[in-house]
Amino acid sequence: MEPTTFNEMTLSDPIRRAIADLGFEEPTPIQAQCIKILMEGHDLTAQAQTGTGKTAAFGIPMLESITPGGRTPQGLILAPTRELAIQDAEAIHAYGKYIPVRVVPIYGGQSIERQFQMLRRGTDIVVGTPGRLMDHMRRGTLSLEAIKMVVLDEADEMLNMGFVEDIEFILGQLPSKRQTALFSATIPSRIRILAGKYLQEPQHVSVSQDRLTVPQVRQLYYEVSGRNKLDALTRILDVGTPASAIIFTRTKRDAGELADNLAGLGYLAEPIHGDLSQTERDRVMRRFRDGMVELLVATDVAARGLDIPEVSHVINYDVPVDPEAYVHRIGRTGRAGRKGEAITLVTPGERNMLRMIERLTRHRLQVAHLPTLADVAAQKRETLKATLRTMLEGDGLAPYLLVVEDLAGDYNVAEVAAAALKLTGALEAKQGKDGVQEPTAGESALQGGLPPGPGMTKIFLNLGRAQRIRPADVVGAIANEAGIAGEAIGAIDIYDNFTLVEVPAKDAARVASALNQSKLRGQRVKVELRAAKQQGSSKAHH
Ligand code: ADP
Ligand code: MG
Repeated sequence: MEPTTFNEMTLSDPIRRAIADLGFEEPTPIQAQCIKILMEGHDLTAQAQTGTGKTAAFGIPMLESITPGGRTPQGLILAPTRELAIQDAEAIHAYGKYIPVRVVPIYGGQSIERQFQMLRRGTDIVVGTPGRLMDHMRRGTLSLEAIKMVVLDEADEMLNMGFVEDIEFILGQLPSKRQTALFSATIPSRIRILAGKYLQEPQHVSVSQDRLTVPQVRQLYYEVSGRNKLDALTRILDVGTPASAIIFTRTKRDAGELADNLAGLGYLAEPIHGDLSQTERDRVMRRFRDGMVELLVATDVAARGLDIPEVSHVINYDVPVDPEAYVHRIGRTGRAGRKGEAITLVTPGERNMLRMIERLTRHRLQVAHLPTLADVAAQKRETLKATLRTMLEGDGLAPYLLVVEDLAGDYNVAEVAAAALKLTGALEAKQGKDGVQEPTAGESALQGGLPPGPGMTKIFLNLGRAQRIRPADVVGAIANEAGIAGEAIGAIDIYDNFTLVEVPAKDAARVASALNQSKLRGQRVKVELRAAKQQGSSKAHH
């Protein structure tokens, strides 16, 4: 039987600890198969898409097979681009954090002298792009005589980029007694030919590309940037007001952190993951069933073993590494034909994984736009009104009525009611533990790049995140100084050194002149109406 946990694999203690630190609970399907085969010393061809966890699939066996501290490298990884070479090097460095392993990325664009120095100091694993590796080999600055294992990562990409001769040259220089592994999203015949020439009796692994059946629930995704994910999530929660939701994260560390952050912002959220004792899990699940916990933050592994009741929303805070996990996740909602919603947050780096899920499920996810702060505010008012209606129809109001009647002599009853509501804080922005709201708005560069809505225009403020500007400051200033209702204000995008705000076109001039007289967080603000031009040019760094 295939080992399905990291514990069942014969991994050394330092590797085990590093994986645990990263929060990996169990191997992905490609890891479950490849690690074993490579540790047994076989050559390997593996077919798997991006985002399936290939780096650890070869990185872990490579780390296990080398003896750190040699004069010349023992592990070699070829990658198609500088980005992938750096990513692989960083990941392997992380898996090897408890081993004194030296991992050096070698790629075009970086000074060759610098690379020469790094190589001369000694390295155990080299990750490089074929062209630059060949340069070093020709100059005699890279010796491959001690290589024990070589990996071709994203082999089809390397061939597409025209590296085939370089690759053959490099493979031809390696010791013949070595292990070779080839990872590729597709296995066209050119790859098969290459494998036939340079691999010895390879084993083959491919993660199933079978069509997956998806439950019939509404599936949406939001484009977000990594750093504003939490803000995006809270807006979605505030506007969607799910009665109960499971929020999935990739690792248990993320689950713990996210649940903490949400609880700090006043949501009824708790994590559930493999590190909790059975008693703790039972307690969390009981609270979730009783409605004392509304948001369960879980990893795939933790969720799998649980009898989780029907939820109205499944939220993928991270895109799952494995499309099958996506299907399992969203199956938690919309059971028995009931209405459910599956929401996925997608960072630019996760787009490929989303496409892969769409391919395997033959189902296109619908793109949705993040609610604006005005949407959030409007929803809060609706919720408050609904709560009030229920209270007004119930009893127990008598003692409060006495207070209102007393005050009614001096004040307008509507104002008394408003003051009473303010006491509940129901419309206040949720505050973090330290009283500082998470950096909000401006999350998706995409949303910022959208043209303003009908009748709206964007104005430009010369203050931004670096000046500690928060959406609440902007809304407050515009509402107070220009007398514009909060809900009339549209999207607010806060960048590092400026902010774009959508306001009703007819009020734009008034807002600009009012703000120009005022201060935001104690700082003078300069407003310009030329936002439309600003957008295209200054967002580039974002
Ligand atoms: P690929 O090379 O196949 O595109 P990566 O190795 O870059 O995939 O992994 C994709 C993401 O999944 C990374 O963020 C990585 O940290 C994460 N990951 C890899 N293996 C696991 C695992 N066993 N459990 C949880 N997350 C994992
Ligand atoms: Mg990769």
